[in-house]
Amino acid sequence: MPHEREPQVRPVWLVALEHVSIAAAAVLLVLEAAAVARAVEPGDLGLLAAAFLAALLLADLVSGTVHWIGDTFFETTTPILGPAFVANFREHHRDPQAIVRHGFAERNGGNALAIVLPLLLARMATPPEAGHTALAAHAFLLFLTIGSCATNQIHMWAHTKRVPRFVRSLQRARLILSPEHHDGHHRGDFRRCYCVTTGWLNPALDAMAFWERSERWLRERWPKDGARLPAKEARRAQGG
Ligand SMILES: [Zn+2]
Ligand SMILES: [Zn+2]
Repeated sequence: MPHEREPQVRPVWLVALEHVSIAAAAVLLVLEAAAVARAVEPGDLGLLAAAFLAALLLADLVSGTVHWIGDTFFETTTPILGPAFVANFREHHRDPQAIVRHGFAERNGGNALAIVLPLLLARMATPPEAGHTALAAHAFLLFLTIGSCATNQIHMWAHTKRVPRFVRSLQRARLILSPEHHDGHHRGDFRRCYCVTTGWLNPALDAMAFWERSERWLRERWPKDGARLPAKEARRAQGG
């Protein structure tokens, strides 16, 4: 099957936006990490561990939700959303290696852009030195934005045959999505294992049929015409 997006030249403004977003996100992450590090005292380690755990769980849930929406609803022909969002997900099912061939900025620019605003707001909020609540909030945001910003890179590593040793160690420790676990999404009909940051939530969400129930709930309530939202049949016809 032809690769839908490869013959297209990506617009210059989009490539520039991806690079600027990555640079801005990197600077803001360093500033936020420094602010948290300055405020941390030895007694705060439990608080940091709790913030880390909660943030990675939320990042995993966000990755699963975005992935599920991209896989389940709308079409590649939907205005704006189609080419900018949906096409990536449909391409990934037809051609899982495309994510490996994409450049770093193309792969990570969108997620970097998404974390710029929360990190900017954090610069204006109460600083982490103000107390335990402020420190917990800043640490949570820091870990959440790191996890979210790294999600596409982590997903790519799950499709890469040879990864750096530290990446394989993180995969084996299940701190990030492992290829073995992510294979659960690509086997079968792409209806399970949607979370692609750590994959921690997948067993519970799949066991409770969370995505199927959410899809049914949404389709029943979608205004006007349920067929506008989704395209289960079309998605299957496209091979994903
Ligand atoms: Zn998928
Ligand atoms: Zn994948």
